[in-house]
Amino acid sequence: MSWQATVLTLFPEMFPGPLGLSLAGRALETGVWSCRTHDLRQHGLGRHRAVDDTPFGGGAGMVIRADVADAALSALDAPKEMPRVFMTPRGYPLRQKDVSRYAQGPGVVLMCGRFEGVDERVLNAHSVEQVSIGDYVLSGGETAALVLLDACVRLLPGVMGSHESGVEESFSDGLLEYPHYTRPATWQGHDVPEVLLSGNHAAIAAWRQKQAEEITRERRPDLWSAWLARREKNEAATGLSGQVRQTGL
Ligand code: SAH
Repeated sequence: MSWQATVLTLFPEMFPGPLGLSLAGRALETGVWSCRTHDLRQHGLGRHRAVDDTPFGGGAGMVIRADVADAALSALDAPKEMPRVFMTPRGYPLRQKDVSRYAQGPGVVLMCGRFEGVDERVLNAHSVEQVSIGDYVLSGGETAALVLLDACVRLLPGVMGSHESGVEESFSDGLLEYPHYTRPATWQGHDVPEVLLSGNHAAIAAWRQKQAEEITRERRPDLWSAWLARREKNEAATGLSGQVRQTGL
């Protein structure tokens, strides 16, 4: 059975969009996954099919109404166990581990916000998870939904060429990935790091590990401290840290 994406949106034409091309597009054609949209507007009210209203408490902008969002969520025939996710900068940050949880399940229902967002009561009533793709504000949830779907679809069985490329990459072990080099070995006077040409697999692995650690420490202090804490815990568990302390390393 294929992995099922259902997207609730005011702009159904945005899907599958870029995911209709390349790896994800081929997987869509071969039925590895499917992408359905559900137009929020069809649940709009009155002659103009209004979906939004002014916020209680005042303030700028409009909010998608509780009754409209509820009608849309209730009309879906997606299985109950399929996660319902609202894309919002107020959400929990999307991590690779969440992506792989979604990819391992039957699919996702994604709700794309517009304006200031959606009435909070509906999100609670439908047990909707709230997810952010980063600390910046987009004009709508559609591009965020495409990001989440892209990250999930590439993990589905058979989508990526080599199995390994999904295992050994940024975040898989808590570090950012090491840098990559390919031909020509000398380009505009710049050589690739010598160790990569050595054929010494252990030395190459050690160099890559060190690069990954340095890049993570510099670019992502948050990931770096989490990784250090995990390493310390592992070493304590295997009794290594005591030895290290004794030898003063
Ligand atoms: N006023 C809101 C932002 C609204 S942006 C706030 O400050 O929280 C309009 C819509 O774009 C949101 O409802 C959400 O669906 C989407 N969106 C914007 N930024 C996002 C992000 N970083 N991650 C996920 N969705 C986002």
